[in-house]
Amino acid sequence: MISSCRAAELRNDRSGRPDEQFRSPAVPQLSPTFSTTMPLTIQRCASCGTELPERDARTSCPACGGLLALVHAPPAEQGAALRARFDARLRDGAGLVADAAGAARASGVWRFRELIMPGATDADIVSQPEGNTPLFHRPVVAAWAGVDALLLKHDGFNPTGSFKDRGMTVALTQARRAGARAVACASTGNTSAALAAYASLAGIAGLVLVPAPKSGAQQVALGKLAQTLAYGARTLLVRGDFDDCLRLVREGAEQLGVYLVNSINPYRIEGQKSVALEILQQLAWDAPDWIVLPAGNLGNTSAVGAALRDAVRLGLIARAPRIASIQAAGAAPFASAYRENFATQHRVKAETVATAIKIGDPASWDRATAVIREFDGVVTDVSDAEILEAKAAIDAAGIGCEPASAASVAGVRRLAREGVIRPGERVAAILTGHVLKDPGVLLDYHRADHAAPLVNAPIEVDATLDALARVMDAAAARA
Ligand SMILES: [Zn+2]
Repeated sequence: MISSCRAAELRNDRSGRPDEQFRSPAVPQLSPTFSTTMPLTIQRCASCGTELPERDARTSCPACGGLLALVHAPPAEQGAALRARFDARLRDGAGLVADAAGAARASGVWRFRELIMPGATDADIVSQPEGNTPLFHRPVVAAWAGVDALLLKHDGFNPTGSFKDRGMTVALTQARRAGARAVACASTGNTSAALAAYASLAGIAGLVLVPAPKSGAQQVALGKLAQTLAYGARTLLVRGDFDDCLRLVREGAEQLGVYLVNSINPYRIEGQKSVALEILQQLAWDAPDWIVLPAGNLGNTSAVGAALRDAVRLGLIARAPRIASIQAAGAAPFASAYRENFATQHRVKAETVATAIKIGDPASWDRATAVIREFDGVVTDVSDAEILEAKAAIDAAGIGCEPASAASVAGVRRLAREGVIRPGERVAAILTGHVLKDPGVLLDYHRADHAAPLVNAPIEVDATLDALARVMDAAAARA
């Protein structure tokens, strides 16, 4: 099977026009004896095992509709040698942004390219660069969460302000390799911002499909699309609902050569693996006891698990951390299933202030279930009030994050109180988005009439030195 995939891949490479490369055949036809060399990467259906060549642009299994995952040949180096290669790139890549090759070398995603897209060349790579996000140590947030050692991996420090850039750099690289004429998704959030920025960088048309206003009422908040408009993606207000948008992007993928970069695109998951690899490298490959992350569509849980699997298998780390996936209580089908040992796959009507994880029917369910089982993981949920209080604590520490990100720290506090995270354990919590992603939630929280913890309402004063001194004294006493 692998060798026939290789044959199809080679045929793909040889087909003349980019369009033909893009729409590759459903079933590899060439003789399996064409080549016996294992390709660097194949795509394999997680449900039925069907394999596709690396550059096949379909993002779900043609046989059963299941999710595709990428399988890479093991790198030539492992253990200390592979760690040394990644560490050398970290040192050598610093400050290199002058050209495309420099961006690829400076990227916190492409540093780990052997585990993400081993066949990519510098000429293929579409990189801002991205990654290299800080791992903050904030004792005040650790104290709030009730743990001894808490590190905050802040992926809101990516170019468009969210972790989505890690997946999008790989997806747009793949779009370029596949000769795509356009990339598309149906999303109003961080995905469309990342799509727009990377499509612009790649010089490939970017399309974002959202429902048009219906009977005069907006179906999406256009403010959420601000970055998308700014970065130059074409935003289509489709006369229909979200299901129509999804159907349309799928049809465009099948018939027009549009490359779909929605959340199930397997190359996006590959890029998202890099957040876990960066945490391990920032800790000198001495893994934390826990990695805690917000959970909505479960792509990140899947990606972090896949990265840890690689890291253990290749000897990058001696032992794997446990994983804790944190859902918002109003959008917690995965947490419910966890409590029943994953006997049923739940669906809910999602409702939470944390819009980036407001998902009732997660796409990466099966992969994430396998990850939780494999890494002695836990899944729990936290209320919107807990999320907003955690957010206020993170914001007040001077770093800030979007609401969904704070679910991870709220989850740390809950698990510490329940005794699941034990005293002395080292915890890395992932923050997925920048504080300015959702200013509406912020301003609503810090109202003078809002009786929540950590409220910081603006103070109206007379234009006198006396009034200024009173506020200053109170602030200095609090600091
Ligand atoms: Zn399948």
